[in-house]
Amino acid sequence: MIREYRPEPLTDFSKEENRRAFEEALILVKSELGKEYPLIINGERIFTEKKIISYNPANKDEVVGVVSKANQELAEKAIQEAAKKFEEWKKWPADARARLLFKAAAILRRRKHEFSAMMVYEAGKSWPEADADTAEAIDFMEFYGREMIRLGGSQPLTSLDGETNDLYWIPLGVGLVIPPWNFPLAILTGMTTAAVVSGNTVVLKPASATPVIAAKFMEVMEEAGMPDGVINYLPGSGGEVGDYLVEHPLTRFISFTGSKEVGLRINQKASVLSPGQKWIKRVVAEMGGKDAILVDKDADLEAAATGIVASAYGFQGQKCSACSRAIVHKDVYDKVLELVVEKTKAISMGSTDEHKNNFGPVIDKNAFESINRYIEIGKKEGRLVLGGSSDDSEGYFIEPTIIADVDPNAVIAQEEIFGPVLAMIKAEDLDDGIRIFNDTEYGLTGSLYAKSREAIEKCRQELHVGNLYFNRKSTGAIVGVHPFGGFNMSGTDSKAGGRDYLQLFMQLKSVSETL
Ligand code: GLU
Repeated sequence: MIREYRPEPLTDFSKEENRRAFEEALILVKSELGKEYPLIINGERIFTEKKIISYNPANKDEVVGVVSKANQELAEKAIQEAAKKFEEWKKWPADARARLLFKAAAILRRRKHEFSAMMVYEAGKSWPEADADTAEAIDFMEFYGREMIRLGGSQPLTSLDGETNDLYWIPLGVGLVIPPWNFPLAILTGMTTAAVVSGNTVVLKPASATPVIAAKFMEVMEEAGMPDGVINYLPGSGGEVGDYLVEHPLTRFISFTGSKEVGLRINQKASVLSPGQKWIKRVVAEMGGKDAILVDKDADLEAAATGIVASAYGFQGQKCSACSRAIVHKDVYDKVLELVVEKTKAISMGSTDEHKNNFGPVIDKNAFESINRYIEIGKKEGRLVLGGSSDDSEGYFIEPTIIADVDPNAVIAQEEIFGPVLAMIKAEDLDDGIRIFNDTEYGLTGSLYAKSREAIEKCRQELHVGNLYFNRKSTGAIVGVHPFGGFNMSGTDSKAGGRDYLQLFMQLKSVSETL
């Protein structure tokens, strides 16, 4: 008997005992920094000469781990092994595959702080952000395990006399999983376990900025009893190994989360038939966002400002769900701006191994430079009200930045920045706000703060985003509660943590027997 799915509770860090436990985990993880991690192909550990070095973004000299780096030859080996293993793994009953995920979830729950602490060092997450990341990873496994049980066995059909009819979900084959660095455990776990619980085998190419937490995920899978070859851990560069596997004739599907540019490139490459390829590759891509919070004139302005600040600066704005545009009714614009500035000033920036710092570094040098370029553009496009400075002497720190009076068509109001930069935009009225809200190429998340029922119902229909929230922040979707994924250039319209997600990695087989 499996209990009903319930999201994993978050850790209450106001409690001294929880803070102490987290500090202990930080000490433990710190003592393990700098370790070497091999590739894992069909259970075989392979150390290569070329390495990916993972650094702490808050302390550029601190090596989090040294990870072996695959080349095309090893990518070939990985996909061949995954293809071989598929013939066996696909025969595992759905509930047995699900139980493996429940076991892995239990292991991760026991080692929760250790995993979160690793994300403090490897990704620069604050304690609560890291804790939520680990909780979400647990949720994905608990949720997808139950989903596979629901979808295992014959599915409902209309019956005919004299026949038995069945409809089965069966897996696709070998998948390439390319997760992002911004939820380096949660999204990696969700993408990988969804694919394998559905009966596929995968080559997992972790993000090059966060390969160590991915190696630790492999530890959990191994401890849970995942057979060798089902998940093959293959860090490597996108240009060399990623493209090779996207184009490979044995690749049946690609599950990707990351930028629009890379997603489109994968989609394009995957559409070209390789010699010997027998199928049309399926691409599941979750890409960017240019998410907005719309504030109507009757809104609770305190709540709106709190939601804007949390959504804009949580994990330094490095979420595809982050609020990068606050669109505010002109009657309350000045007041909201004042409140947003006041609340942003309360943010404490610094290395997040200290609990008091709720705002850490951005992920790496490239991100640091790109976000700074946008800030320079933003200074010309609007009025810099707060922040705007950065310092990379120790780590990649960029202040939470607010740019006011931004035109809805400005570069910083249209392009995804993926950093702590908020554009404040004034709307004439609610209709104008709705128009501005929808007027980007993305459609991922967004919120409305309003009291009027009419405004809420109008926006329920008209705000075109995959995740729409009323009177709450635009980040922090919970598995099974807020299925996550957006429209238009935000991706292929999939919903991670929703009831239609596993079907993306399966196909239906209809079987009819005359009696
Ligand atoms: N699911 C996350 C949220 O709701 C965002 C995921 C992402 O940034 O890729 O905040």
